[in-house]
Amino acid sequence: MNELKLAVLGSRGAGKSALTVRFLTRRFIGEYASNSECIYTKHLCLDGRQMHMEIYDPCSQPRQGKLSLTDELHWADGFVIVYDISNRASFAFAKALLYRIRDSHLAACKRVVESAVFLVGNKQDLCHMREVGWDEGQKLAMDNKCQFCELSAAEHCQEVVTMFTKVLRTITTN
Ligand code: GDP
Repeated sequence: MNELKLAVLGSRGAGKSALTVRFLTRRFIGEYASNSECIYTKHLCLDGRQMHMEIYDPCSQPRQGKLSLTDELHWADGFVIVYDISNRASFAFAKALLYRIRDSHLAACKRVVESAVFLVGNKQDLCHMREVGWDEGQKLAMDNKCQFCELSAAEHCQEVVTMFTKVLRTITTN
């Protein structure tokens, strides 16, 4: 059985847990009370193959200010980087995370694993409070050779499933 390890990263409140729980349970949990980091496990069938998946969600992002990410970078096969489109600071944090991932791949002389990183602009339902344009997200993703989408963990179920499936499929085909 193939094993897939995915880390969901982003600033506190961006919606990491909401997205992860949406994918795993198809439900939106408005207030997900967890202050400790979690690794969720799930068996899934992807393109006819049985997979064992682990998703790391740091929940409260205790090391918010530190971008060493050394453990996560060694552990994960792929990343979902989440920001909140109604919060510019969360976009700046996502950008710093992407640079850190890219630099670590370059330092390790690894081929930059294109598209095994997915940049997600969450809370699209709050577009009336938007602080980050769709084109800014798209450009950041293109500059860092990763996939991009905007969605809402609160309102979109299928889009969340599709996004996770795409990044998992990218990992398995690399
Ligand atoms: P985390 O700290 O990144 O794990 O963020 P959470 O998943 O705990 O979400 C933080 C807050 O944003 C919670 O109050 C969620 O209900 C809310 N939230 C998450 N996703 C969405 C979304 O798509 N739309 C809206 N309006 N709120 C969301």
